[in-house]
Amino acid sequence: MQPDDFLPRLVEALGPDTVVTRPEDIAPWLADWRGLYRGQAQAVVRPRRVEEVSRALALCQQAAVPVVPRGGNTGLCGAATPDGSPRNVVLSLDRMNAIRSIDTIANTMVAEAGCILGNLRRAAEAEHRLLPLSLAAEDSCQIGGNLATNAGGVNVVRYGMTRELVLGIEAVLPTGEVFHGLRALRKDNTGYDLKQLLIGSEGTLGVITAAALRLLPRTDVRSVVLAAVESPAQALSLFSLLYARCGARLQAFEFFTGDCVDLVLAHAEGVQEPFATRYPGYVLVELADTTDESALGALLEQVIGTALDDGLCLDAAVSASLAQLQALWKLREEISEAQRADGPHLKHDVSLPIERIPAFMDSMAQRVARLDPGIRPFIFGHFGDGNLHYNLSRPAGAGPDWATRHGKAVTAEVIDEVVRYGGSISAEHGIGQLKRDDFLRTKDPLELRLMSEIKRVFDPAGIMNPGKLL
Ligand SMILES: Cc1cc2nc3c(=O)[nH]c(=O)nc-3n(C[C@H](O)[C@H](O)[C@H](O)COP(=O)(O)OP(=O)(O)OC[C@H]3O[C@@H](n4cnc5c(N)ncnc54)[C@H](O)[C@@H]3O)c2cc1C
Repeated sequence: MQPDDFLPRLVEALGPDTVVTRPEDIAPWLADWRGLYRGQAQAVVRPRRVEEVSRALALCQQAAVPVVPRGGNTGLCGAATPDGSPRNVVLSLDRMNAIRSIDTIANTMVAEAGCILGNLRRAAEAEHRLLPLSLAAEDSCQIGGNLATNAGGVNVVRYGMTRELVLGIEAVLPTGEVFHGLRALRKDNTGYDLKQLLIGSEGTLGVITAAALRLLPRTDVRSVVLAAVESPAQALSLFSLLYARCGARLQAFEFFTGDCVDLVLAHAEGVQEPFATRYPGYVLVELADTTDESALGALLEQVIGTALDDGLCLDAAVSASLAQLQALWKLREEISEAQRADGPHLKHDVSLPIERIPAFMDSMAQRVARLDPGIRPFIFGHFGDGNLHYNLSRPAGAGPDWATRHGKAVTAEVIDEVVRYGGSISAEHGIGQLKRDDFLRTKDPLELRLMSEIKRVFDPAGIMNPGKLL
């Protein structure tokens, strides 16, 4: 196919309503959520059916046109943003947003890739079931994007990452062939589990068009405590106590520093100082169960009482109402937005063997101070999963280009320390464009080679999301 023939053929195959070509209409699809990346594209394709995705990809492969799958664009690594090539096609799943079925006997839901996660959670709730995947971006991100990034969120400590909630996938390969893996079976040991390769592949192997998801019993009874801690070591001891005493009821175990509270109080509306004193660190714990509110509250009070007696926390506030529970959560949920409002910063979504977090944080603090004592760390995250958002904001008085000028050197310090402590340079956000160099520098060569070979099997022409991940 001649390059000039491609666009007319795409429009002819899918219709002008599905293929957006006017530059002013394409513009909103070319930048990422954080405004770090901006690319180019000749068209945005917005299919409504799997057959249209198939037709679009087959044509793109024939013409060697790069394809960038796009979900809700809440990803934090520039993975859904096209690169600088004007030949790119952005393939948006936003119109494929039907819930195909909810089965309350098998406890499964089949949803198209463009469904907004929050809508799926509400649909499950309406059937007295729980879709446990939950993150601050849930009213914007799409389930296809969640699968493509293997998203984590606040309930991983209990339910695992997205991968653990997926029973089946329907996807379109770059050849246009449809991968009919939408089985909702709990047990299926028939050879390699190919859907697992698509989960976390960041749009580099194919386009996910639908997923069969596990549903769980709805946990309507919730109890939250905000505990103040002296140090990450104390948070670790508290985690161990809670895990032992509350078992599967432990639904979230989040950590943030006192500096994060300052940041939220400075930038977010309707947030209150949690205690009379500012403490070095805070742990937000949620317990949840299907029934018996008073028993759950009593359990939490009892365990926190033990923690206070044994010196595993300094202070504690247990939620006595839904409003209080939401207010405590707001302190944690507003941190990302508050940091965005504070100005350019460096995000590091890392994970560590949980027992090594205290030593990592001590050693990292020294490294950061050696680089520039003015750098302001805002550290928070899903502590119970060993996941820290080790975010660094520019020193007071530094220009807005601080992150651009010093980002590479500062991030290299964090990455090296994470590797030294046996952690991962991307706990849940993925690699995208942002972490590609660090990923290629630090990943085991054998694993990289196997990934490249898998990529060639799925995408021999290399059209899927070039410049991301590999
Ligand atoms: C405020 C905020 C809080 C967040 N909190 C968390 C958190 O707690 N945990 C967490 O894990 N993440 C978090 N994120 C990051 C983000 O929400 C997740 O990575 C989410 O899974 C991305 O989904 P999306 O639909 O926005 O995908 P996009 O950003 O559109 O795309 C992400 C990647 O998936 C690919 N992709 C998208 N759809 C498809 C598809 N159908 N088929 C194939 N590839 C596809 C894209 O090409 C890209 O590589 C947060 C983001 C924000 C803004």
